Amino acid sequence: MITRRNFLKNTVTGIAALSLPLAAFEIVDPKKLMASEAKNPSKVRWVFLIDTYKCTGCGFCVKACKLENEVPYDTNVTRTWVERYVITKDGVNHADTPDNGGRDGFTTARMNRGMGKFEEIKKEDIDKAFFVPKLCNQCENPPCVQVCPVGATYQAPDGVVLVDRTWCIGCGYCIMGCPYGVRFFHPVHHTAEKCNFCYHRITKGLKTACVDACPFGARRIGNLRDPNDPVTKIIMTERVGVLKEEYGTKPQAFYLGLDREVK
Ligand code: SF4
Repeated sequence: MITRRNFLKNTVTGIAALSLPLAAFEIVDPKKLMASEAKNPSKVRWVFLIDTYKCTGCGFCVKACKLENEVPYDTNVTRTWVERYVITKDGVNHADTPDNGGRDGFTTARMNRGMGKFEEIKKEDIDKAFFVPKLCNQCENPPCVQVCPVGATYQAPDGVVLVDRTWCIGCGYCIMGCPYGVRFFHPVHHTAEKCNFCYHRITKGLKTACVDACPFGARRIGNLRDPNDPVTKIIMTERVGVLKEEYGTKPQAFYLGLDREVK
């Protein structure tokens, strides 16, 4: 069976330039963002900011997320995960994620190629290497919501895309519809599952479990409708990127230091 992570492992190496349009991410234009924000009457729009310069791939965020959101700890599914990118001097992009989503960090320098295979990359051949955490982008135009035939997945006025387990019929359309591969079937409930920015926490004034768990401040949550929010200030003034903007989803997870090689 091809899983999200095996797909990543099997396709990124050597064919990075072929698999997607030239830019897998776009730098955000603050003027456009402010114009679309001005049209919305809601006082809150939750957004996420990931600083790839700060992420060390320790996996504390993955661990915290699993425990907080009752995603069975030892199963091969996660609401958030960490990808490792190693670009060698010959321009080849090598990427991997441990089978547990990076829950225990990256414990070996060898790249995981899936099916029990690993690849050694010599230090002297490395041009650059970095980690990229992934999670639901809480898209402004969420295709997962559009394809759900029973309205079990929907968008709250504050932008977060939620799943109502009591309505989900497990058809899997949303899992196929998400271009970011963030949805999966919950192994116990057998319904569609994904990150919801720890909605039960953020609506009570807390931060998400992953934000609280990150020892390096690589993950932050903010309110885009509050001009004084430190996260909003960064999004509006610094060079931030989003993933796969060409799909028209308007992702609301913003990245600092996002490399062009990231898919
Ligand atoms: Fe839906 Fe995927 Fe966008 Fe999340 S990232 S809102 S699951 S399409």
